[in-house]
Amino acid sequence: MRETFLPFALPDLDHTEFDQIKESLESGWITTGPKTRQFEVEFATMVGAKHAVAVNSCTAAMHLALEAIGLQRGDEVITTPYTFAATAEVIRYFDARPVFVDVDPFTLNMDISQIEAQITSQTKAIMPVDIAGLPVDYDPLLDLAQTHHLTVIEDAAHAFPTRYKGKMIGSISDMTCFSFYATKTITTGEGGMICTDNDEWANRCRIMALHGISKDAWKRYTAEGSWYYEIVAPGYKYNLTDIAAGMGLAQLKKARQMHARRVAIAQRYNNAFQHYPELQLPAPACKSSCIPSDCGCQHAWHLYLIRLNFDRLNIDRAGFVDALKQRNIGTSVHFIPLHIHPYYRERYHFQPEDFPVAYQEYQRVISLPIYSKMSDSDVDDVIEAVVTIIETHRS
Ligand SMILES: *Cc1c(COP(=O)(O)O)cnc(C)c1O
Repeated sequence: MRETFLPFALPDLDHTEFDQIKESLESGWITTGPKTRQFEVEFATMVGAKHAVAVNSCTAAMHLALEAIGLQRGDEVITTPYTFAATAEVIRYFDARPVFVDVDPFTLNMDISQIEAQITSQTKAIMPVDIAGLPVDYDPLLDLAQTHHLTVIEDAAHAFPTRYKGKMIGSISDMTCFSFYATKTITTGEGGMICTDNDEWANRCRIMALHGISKDAWKRYTAEGSWYYEIVAPGYKYNLTDIAAGMGLAQLKKARQMHARRVAIAQRYNNAFQHYPELQLPAPACKSSCIPSDCGCQHAWHLYLIRLNFDRLNIDRAGFVDALKQRNIGTSVHFIPLHIHPYYRERYHFQPEDFPVAYQEYQRVISLPIYSKMSDSDVDDVIEAVVTIIETHRS
């Protein structure tokens, strides 16, 4: 058993982030500036988007995306209950209604086949989430959205770098929102990005991210800037700082390498756990409809979700999490479905069984540590702990 606690998540930072931050501090340019612009350009190139607008969180990104499409009070947005608070709260910012669709029990992504029945004359957008970094099946989702003239705003907080049939997430949906929160696959401490090919939406997001001031507000303190500006709307304060963007530039340089390490850890877990019918392993990135060798799908492996098969175990999820903690392994649970939280439960009178798959899968899911800073022996410690707990709790 390991002697020290293995945290559930850790950022992968080294001198390259420090060098970037030092550069910002020494230059005196510490808020939005040249590094933020460079981060946007490099990120847009990596995901194949025409525009990338850097903001200070994925929550801000999704708020601005919904603002850009003109969401109004009373409108409806179809999304998943199997997600983090941010996905639905941004819909509530507009006094609009989040309309939940249950998830697929295999992938835990929104069940596309249940969306059409929820579309009404009030529906404006669909907000899918690529859970754990596993891409949603976008072909049928985009077909449906097109048929019903709905905008697809993707919560890609887990999905960098994720690929769907050869295309990077960030180049597929109408607008894609990424997170660079401390635990995500690349981090700026706090940060987010909106990617889109639509000039008008990109421009609106950029303006609304900085007080609704028209035209490159951040440039007003540069040599080429001017004191004159115009406020065209009551905007927000969602800009990313250059200190954060510098971290982002360093993280982008390591992104491939960090992803390769996550893939290797996922493979190690898969190999070790596949012999244990007490566990259900995460779905792979490819659906059976993909030709396995060249389907071009790629999982970001932000999370590695195992599910407990209770008919083979005499321990519950809380017990399993505690047993892992006693063995010095940090874990988490993704996610407590939104419809069972007090706010949504009370506001919309939800019962747990209204979204039965989300509710049931939540009760048996555990997220294991998966991050590039983990050594092989850290991974072995997790495997040993999981296997030992299974073997002492077989029913
Ligand atoms: C982390 C997360 C967010 C929020 O990201 P922030 O950058 O912290 O705003 C949104 N959606 C999901 C699914 C997340 O996991």
